[in-house]
Amino acid sequence: MATTPSFNPKYPLPIAVLVGAGPGDIGLFTLAGARTLALASVVIYDALANPDLLAFCSPEAELIYVGKRAGLHSFTQPEINALLVKKCREYMARPDCPGRCIVRLKGGDPFVFGRGGEEAQALTQAQIPFAVIPGITAGIAGPAYAGIPVTHRDFTSTVTFITGHQQEDSSDKSSAVPSGDESSNVDYPALAKLGGTLVFYMGVKNLPHITQRLMDCGLNADTPAAVVRMATHPEQQTVAGTVKTIAQLAQKAEIKAPAITIIGKVVSVREQMNWFESRPLFGQTILVTRTRQQASTLSDKLLELGARVIEAPTIEIAKPTDRQAALTAIQDMTNYDCVVFTSANGVQSAHQAMIALELDARDFAATVAAIGPATADALNSIGITPDIVSTDAISEELALELINYFSRIDPAKEPDAAKLDLSGYRFLLLRAEIARPSLVKMLRNAGAAVDDVPIYQTRIPESLPENAIEALQNGAVDWITFTSASTAKNLFTMLPENLRSVVGKCRRLSIGPTTSRALAELGWPATLEAQHHDIPGMVHAMVEETLRSAGAS
Ligand code: SAH
Repeated sequence: MATTPSFNPKYPLPIAVLVGAGPGDIGLFTLAGARTLALASVVIYDALANPDLLAFCSPEAELIYVGKRAGLHSFTQPEINALLVKKCREYMARPDCPGRCIVRLKGGDPFVFGRGGEEAQALTQAQIPFAVIPGITAGIAGPAYAGIPVTHRDFTSTVTFITGHQQEDSSDKSSAVPSGDESSNVDYPALAKLGGTLVFYMGVKNLPHITQRLMDCGLNADTPAAVVRMATHPEQQTVAGTVKTIAQLAQKAEIKAPAITIIGKVVSVREQMNWFESRPLFGQTILVTRTRQQASTLSDKLLELGARVIEAPTIEIAKPTDRQAALTAIQDMTNYDCVVFTSANGVQSAHQAMIALELDARDFAATVAAIGPATADALNSIGITPDIVSTDAISEELALELINYFSRIDPAKEPDAAKLDLSGYRFLLLRAEIARPSLVKMLRNAGAAVDDVPIYQTRIPESLPENAIEALQNGAVDWITFTSASTAKNLFTMLPENLRSVVGKCRRLSIGPTTSRALAELGWPATLEAQHHDIPGMVHAMVEETLRSAGAS
């Protein structure tokens, strides 16, 4: 029998790494896994590994999918073993890229019903040094996310992981490869006698058989039981009953793989501990229409609250038409009394231009103003604390604050008469190519000299992501968020006609009056407008409305 490859100075680092991808939620992936993916020159992954994890890979990494795909040849376990060994050998034959590795990324934990043991043996046989990074297995994460502690002093001190798979259970598309006939070794009389917590993997189709066998072997038919599908994902679905009823309940709820079945008294505490599925936006699918760069702040908050988020960028940020004018204005910033930013995009674009010009924070104007907290946050993130921030993202409000601020700090002027006098002050507005004129108008009316310089322009992306179109087509979208008039107008332009009426049926959340006006003009009046015209205000409004309508139903 081959033994573990001994230390070889030529390959001091592992060549292959079996990495556990965890149960789905990418927040449950390990730091070691993320670091290893960044080093990988090849990643061989299957269906249960969340594809979003591939974002940790370097762009040059070769990504090989070996899971099942409808209508296509799926890899057998011996083929996967052979592929893994082949990729490692190819890598070892290349002296030009030291410090990389070949990653085998597997759902949950690689050694729990994942056939990782066989892959490690194949590597050993081929004398390829390897390492294993465990992952959170579905049998731990599933119960935890369904509010079921797998052990509890009052109920049980044992937990058993069992495969419920049978060779003929070919419906379980979740596993990259069927796990053979491990289940024929399952000793049901022993399980029924042991009781405690029993956790079955891969047993959806086989559930009637599993529960019958357990009852036949003496397990109390009233023992609590639950099935958790797509655990840790926003789509998680849980059905609870007893050993006697669970198979039928699961069938009625159309539970399909991947799902975990938990049997034991611990299931009874779920009622008190169902934290994940009780989050306020759990079960809501939300389409976020901001730019890709901006979407994440909103998406992250919605995800934390339990929503399923689909990003559908309807705006792209590009350099302004007159880039030279923008660069000249930025170069000249210290000559202004105040530079005004009206969006986070403006701040980011100015920051990029400053880097290109080799300028830094010392080259800002003496006073910096921001419209709304999101713009202020963007400034803070580049090390600039704005002096003036309007509480709402409305330009009229910022204009008034600027007028008050500058009038007040000029002691030479009569306080009352000169209250609205900004003469002698120079303002630089770094904004989008198409921006509302009111801010400029109000400042000029007050006597200020204003240079309104476009620092970026927005464009309509070529198309919407496929998953967004699909969700709309399936009527799966509950909410659509609109953070500006252009997100509304652009979505309208980008959608095929039949989907425009679908938008009309979703709940539309608007950030504020300007956006609501645009929505109304498109025939999509806002279902709800945020009271505070910013992202936290939108999230708050959505949570309140969702809870209200859930309470009403
Ligand atoms: N190595 C994996 C298990 C692979 S076997 C692990 O440690 O989790 C595949 C089975 O795992 C599925 O049939 C299902 O029973 C379970 N499974 C994996 N991910 C799951 C998820 N997110 N929710 C519920 N069950 C899951």
